[in-house]
Amino acid sequence: MSDSDRPSMRDSDRPGAAPPWRATVLTLYPEMFPGPLGHSLSGDALARGAWSLEPRQIREHGLGRHRNVDDTPAGGGAGMVLRCDVLGAAIDAAADDSRPRLLMSPRGKPLTQDRVRALADGPGAILVCGRFEGVDERVIEARGLEEVSIGDYVLSGGEIAALVLIDACVRLLPGVMGKHASGVEESFEGGLLEYPHYTRPREWEGRTIPDVLMGGNHAAIARWRAECSRALTRARRPDLLGRDEP
Ligand code: SAH
Repeated sequence: MSDSDRPSMRDSDRPGAAPPWRATVLTLYPEMFPGPLGHSLSGDALARGAWSLEPRQIREHGLGRHRNVDDTPAGGGAGMVLRCDVLGAAIDAAADDSRPRLLMSPRGKPLTQDRVRALADGPGAILVCGRFEGVDERVIEARGLEEVSIGDYVLSGGEIAALVLIDACVRLLPGVMGKHASGVEESFEGGLLEYPHYTRPREWEGRTIPDVLMGGNHAAIARWRAECSRALTRARRPDLLGRDEP
């Protein structure tokens, strides 16, 4: 009986298998995980052990009877700041290895597909989710946290940003997308946006599928798709094009 005949075997139990990609999330809202990642392809992959998820409650390291985690900003101003001693202890208890330590933060380097691919190729990540006004700067320095942003807007907490980052990584893990894996042709892979897709019906509300896609000439289809990709990228995201592109 081959391994593929054993549906109950977890990916990580296969002889010679690499340890699964591992995400540890430090948060005040561990119940938000896996959330949407428990469904569809990422959920199936989680259930069969192709990746693992460990949400950790920061408040377990909170201070006093009320397990306080935050305090008012030094120098005054609105909101609350996550304490460095609390977060430092939470990180020390969770981060027992050399995985990248990421702090979800609108001040961070914007997340890109290249960075996602590099993270997916590694052992996993430790993700720290901020809340309130953010976290005490000293813990960022002392624990070597790399700030990562998912875009130029402000969320109310890092949890949704962490879900975004984990989702983008998990779908690249071997076997997660199965035959859906289109890798090389997707937006950003190869530096361009993806060409448009169509499926049945051939005509809908007077709109038809471009003839070239129905003609069966694979070279012509590949040319058409490449031209569409370039035109879309030029129109919508000229910043993605190489310097010598018009
Ligand atoms: N006062 C902060 C914003 C805090 S928002 C500032 O102006 O920079 C609260 C938390 O949400 C942050 O600590 C961070 O963990 C998360 N967050 C907000 N926007 C984010 C973004 N664009 N990318 C990643 N994380 C974000």
